[in-house]
Amino acid sequence: MTQTLLLATNNPHKVEELRSIFLPYDIVLRTPAELGSEADVLENGNSYYENACLKARAYAGTSPYPVLADDSGLEVEALQGAPGIHSHRFLPNPDATSRERCLYLLGCLRQFPRPWRAAFHCEVVLLTLQGTVLTSHGICTGEIIPEFRGKNGFGYDPIFLVDGTARTMAELSPDTKNRLSHRGKAALEMTAQLGIPRRSDLG
Ligand code: IMP
Repeated sequence: MTQTLLLATNNPHKVEELRSIFLPYDIVLRTPAELGSEADVLENGNSYYENACLKARAYAGTSPYPVLADDSGLEVEALQGAPGIHSHRFLPNPDATSRERCLYLLGCLRQFPRPWRAAFHCEVVLLTLQGTVLTSHGICTGEIIPEFRGKNGFGYDPIFLVDGTARTMAELSPDTKNRLSHRGKAALEMTAQLGIPRRSDLG
């Protein structure tokens, strides 16, 4: 039977990526906006897992479906893993643009020798209707470069060179990003845990 899940985000980039990642699977993703449900989530957990659970729980009360949430971030070795879980709020100004956050990160890194090794992390949690939490994690390694390259993706993608590709995340096609990305890997692991079949395997 087709599995319907509520995504605990209205972030259009994440919705688009997760819909595309799950497209081959017998899963339908609904968004809070589609269901008319709203939640103000205070992401004050101490880990990706805790923040993903906070997001999932914020929507679970009003959801007729299990809730799928993700929390992600960029960890830079020279900065001892920062910005990590604070990637979205790396700049104090909540209205800062992605470009401004990238420029701020590059400013922090200027004093360190290259390569600036880094990794994207993503935790996906699924909160079932019975209250059980399933979790999966994905990592994508690479390095930060001091120039903006590519127009795809979002966030830190234009300054993140993906290991083994010689391209930034923003230069990859959406399909390739989803195959290599932290979010793609975490989401795929979740489908395996749930035992959800690919549509092509259904009779
Ligand atoms: P959150 O998971 O909504 O808390 O957001 C984490 C932040 O990490 C995003 O706002 C981006 O700045 C960054 N981030 C997470 N995933 C990606 C990605 O796939 N590409 C670029 N930046 C990302």
